[in-house]
Amino acid sequence: MTGAAESSVSGTDEHAPLAPGWTCDTCGADWPCAAKRSRLLAEYRADRAMLSVYLGSCLAAAAQDLPPSPGTCLQDRFIGWLPRNPRVS
Ligand SMILES: [Zn+2]
Repeated sequence: MTGAAESSVSGTDEHAPLAPGWTCDTCGADWPCAAKRSRLLAEYRADRAMLSVYLGSCLAAAAQDLPPSPGTCLQDRFIGWLPRNPRVS
């Protein structure tokens, strides 16, 4: 794959979440960052239900770590970005 902002720095490019802030350990954005989202979509392309389960568990863990804040909805952040698939019944 050709990455737009590919860096040649070896080491972590896993875009893994850093608790307790739940920021990306690679790019520092709120997790799941854009890069992680596209990776997850590719990784779970054949099994979107499992992706929802995975993100749900991340959401539950983040809800324990992050203080409640009225301005942000964790569900939107962790799950709301998933493309809808209206053909799934
Ligand atoms: Zn990232």
